[in-house]
Amino acid sequence: MDIKLTKITGHETKGKVGSINVKKDDSIKVGDTLLTIESSKASVEVESEYEGTINEVLIEEGQEISIGTVMFKIDGKKQEKKAAYKFGLAVAKKEKLEVDLLVIGAGPGGYAAAIKASKEGLKTAIIEKEELGGTCLNHGCIPTKSFVKSANMYNDIINSELYGIKTENTSISISTIVNRKNNIVNTLKSGIEYLLKTNNVKLVKGEANIESLDCIKVKNDKVDIEINPKYLMLAMGSEAVKLNIPGTNLEGVLTSKEILNIETLPKTLTIIGGGVIGMEFAFIFASLGSKVTIIEYMDEILTALDDDILQEIKKCCEEKGIDVYTNAKAEEIIKDENGNLITKFKQQNNEKYVTSEKVLMSVGRRANIQNQDWDKLKIKLTERKNAIQVNDKMETSVKNVYAIGDVNGKVQLAHVATHQGMVAVDNMVNKESIMYYDNIPSVVFTMPEIAMTGMSETMAKKNNIPIKIGKIPFSSNGKALTEGKGKGFAKIIIDKNSNQVLGGAVIGPHASDIIAVITNLVEIKANVEEAAETIYAHPTTSEVIHESLLDTMGKAIHV
Ligand code: FAD
Repeated sequence: MDIKLTKITGHETKGKVGSINVKKDDSIKVGDTLLTIESSKASVEVESEYEGTINEVLIEEGQEISIGTVMFKIDGKKQEKKAAYKFGLAVAKKEKLEVDLLVIGAGPGGYAAAIKASKEGLKTAIIEKEELGGTCLNHGCIPTKSFVKSANMYNDIINSELYGIKTENTSISISTIVNRKNNIVNTLKSGIEYLLKTNNVKLVKGEANIESLDCIKVKNDKVDIEINPKYLMLAMGSEAVKLNIPGTNLEGVLTSKEILNIETLPKTLTIIGGGVIGMEFAFIFASLGSKVTIIEYMDEILTALDDDILQEIKKCCEEKGIDVYTNAKAEEIIKDENGNLITKFKQQNNEKYVTSEKVLMSVGRRANIQNQDWDKLKIKLTERKNAIQVNDKMETSVKNVYAIGDVNGKVQLAHVATHQGMVAVDNMVNKESIMYYDNIPSVVFTMPEIAMTGMSETMAKKNNIPIKIGKIPFSSNGKALTEGKGKGFAKIIIDKNSNQVLGGAVIGPHASDIIAVITNLVEIKANVEEAAETIYAHPTTSEVIHESLLDTMGKAIHV
């Protein structure tokens, strides 16, 4: 009997064979996953409607096949799918699974760790209650950068005459911006699903309920599974919080998650919180034409920046027309008779008001630890009880239980979550590994971008470390000027005594990409004289790093 391909997804008729899960002489039953098919839209599992033994496999991985292609020959018969019904509701089949590693949460921490674990030979499963890719892919890093691209493109177009190009009637379609973002997110999500499958990671969709550390259950109308792992990895991430002030539940008061699906472009936007996420949105919406006001509780926005970088980005805020109130405490949001939102705040004992169509609350994120009794599980929380406590091997207070990413509250960055996952898996497979936090690149996708790594000037001064600084402006960089982006600078920090590169920062074009050069120099503890021997391609923005290295020795050419 032939098993043919009968369906892919939607109206698609062709696809590429991903992984084939069965081979000659395997017994199959209804519901078994026979193979995966990659279509242009998604990765799809093809389930068996047959029961029997495979006689022949007629397809190969990577082969393009169409509806009607005969994929297998079997000795057996087609079975009617039996659905179990209970008072009209389908009941999922009960399953039990033993694994080496169970990961809870498929964000950039969890899914990458699961794949690595499987590559290391651990039988691995992962549970995700919402979407693969977590915050980063669905409501964070990637969606915001898709918005940044649209905002930058709009600015380039309205300034295109400077480049000799005349345009007319330029307008913005926020729904297209949102749809483009969704398409990118969906493509990457299918990619993760594909990678989990091809690496034999069992994906369970639903909310994990930790009954005990070796018995985790997921139960919903599609799944009823108990998983007994040898190792457990908690990678549940974090969620946006709102301030506890009156009016935060009013329509139009949004978090970073909701603003990424906005239906109309607000003419006016108030952002409460001038941290990284708030400032990225400030530049995005100001570039798209919204009048943006920031209300920041601290005495500065972007508090982790060295002062020279801070002053530079504040100038850029001014040029974009972003109003910034610091030392300002938001106290209440009220809706006026026209449906606008009035944010009341106090600055140096003065009551102030700002009116806007929308308010974005960007005041921090809290670890997703609310729905479990951690005391009962003997998992210790941090001193402030707001995250799971881990050591530098990513171990929790209980043996064989690890916690990585935002859920441990160390550093809320996607690449930190991923790296912590790698460290945790290495430790599971006895390759002792430690998580270091002294050379983590971080980027703020403002306009221009800001990127930092290693030791900052502020940190060095605070710790009385004798340093030398090399600093080169982008106004002397040919490539930056051809791009019309001569603002900003790069700086390198070296140890005055040993000449070792300790850190650096870039504010300017492609800062997010070229910071990798400094990260690498810090990582290998490069000596500045040797580092400056490297040839940098011309014309590139990375030349500011070369010149900054030379500048620490008073040898820069273009200053
Ligand atoms: P998450 O990505 O939060 O994933 C955790 C997953 O666990 C979620 O999918 C959740 O549904 C799932 N989960 C939770 N509880 C359960 C349960 N009980 N059962 C099953 N599943 C569960 N970082 C950067 O490095 N660069 C950036 O440019 C950047 N931009 C950002 C922009 C915004 C607007 C935001 C909000 C964040 C941004 N971040 C950025 C931060 C980054 O998104 C996070 O640091 C990163 O996603 C953390 O990864 P994680 O794997 O720890 O958790």
